[in-house]
Amino acid sequence: MANFELLKELTQTWGVAGREKKVRAVILRELEGAADQAYVDNIGNIIAVKHGKGGPDRKKIMLCAHMDEIGLQVKKIEPDGRIRVCHVGWVWTAALYNDQVVFQNGVVGVVGCCGNIEEAKNDSGKLYIDIGCTTKEDTEKYVKVGDYCGFIGPYYELQNGRISAKTFDDRAGCFLLLEALKRNKGEGPNDVYYVFSVQEEVGCRGAVAAAAQVKPDIGISVDVTPDHFYPCDLEGCNAVGEGISVTLGDPSAMLDEDLVEEMLACCEEHHIPYQRGVMDRGGTDASSMNLSNEGVRVAGIALVDRYPHSKCSVISKDDVLAGIDLIDKYTHRTFRF
Ligand SMILES: [Zn+2]
Repeated sequence: MANFELLKELTQTWGVAGREKKVRAVILRELEGAADQAYVDNIGNIIAVKHGKGGPDRKKIMLCAHMDEIGLQVKKIEPDGRIRVCHVGWVWTAALYNDQVVFQNGVVGVVGCCGNIEEAKNDSGKLYIDIGCTTKEDTEKYVKVGDYCGFIGPYYELQNGRISAKTFDDRAGCFLLLEALKRNKGEGPNDVYYVFSVQEEVGCRGAVAAAAQVKPDIGISVDVTPDHFYPCDLEGCNAVGEGISVTLGDPSAMLDEDLVEEMLACCEEHHIPYQRGVMDRGGTDASSMNLSNEGVRVAGIALVDRYPHSKCSVISKDDVLAGIDLIDKYTHRTFRF
């Protein structure tokens, strides 16, 4: 069983891209005594390692889940006290409209729109945040140009083992890494690097620096992928609750066919519930690892996430458990290439 209280804590922790300190603190706390070594690099990634037994088939496997989340940044404060913003990462304006957001310092505001929200499309420049102040001077006592704010999205248990919260993207991935690390007793041949990256939502930047340090033989992104079960703007067969997704398609990286075959075989052998996942929008840290050093073979593990990039996305606890199991079993395998 996994400690879902920790997943709840991770989703509720504030950490917009480039401002991941609070998330980093939670993860470092969890890594104490669990990893052989863990450190924070210059741009804020956490790199933790668990060594294996070694031998001629030893590989360096880098698992990568990102700590950051999407959000907004203040670009102007109007004379009437309203706060104008631009987006940090891919933000759906409609997912924030008429809802609360929270700044890094804890100040809460409500998101309104200059005009019709349908016409605002994905232009966050039309949004404003109302923190209850009616003059610029008053607002500036609490919020300044350049400050960041993030979503508020409490964690709830739904029916059939589904859970809802903000930021399963990608705190759920961080959770999979932590739980898999705690299970890893170093009995396999491989050295496993558990990387908690920064700034994925603004272009997979943290993973670039992490891959340069780890120099992995194998890179695996552990992230979320959009659900297609209910009608939405995307089409495909990813479905929450149908197992952990073995990524076969990622717009940002070509997955190595041998690694993917090995991952599918791993699921079959260990009876891990899985689905064949194709991600038709977005990207992952696999892209950064793939093109690092002299080129790195990459694969992807993903949790299917319904209503992603909203304050109330939905995943399945069973998929989470399958994901932990897959990481644990896969990183213990012997890779011959
Ligand atoms: Zn993500």
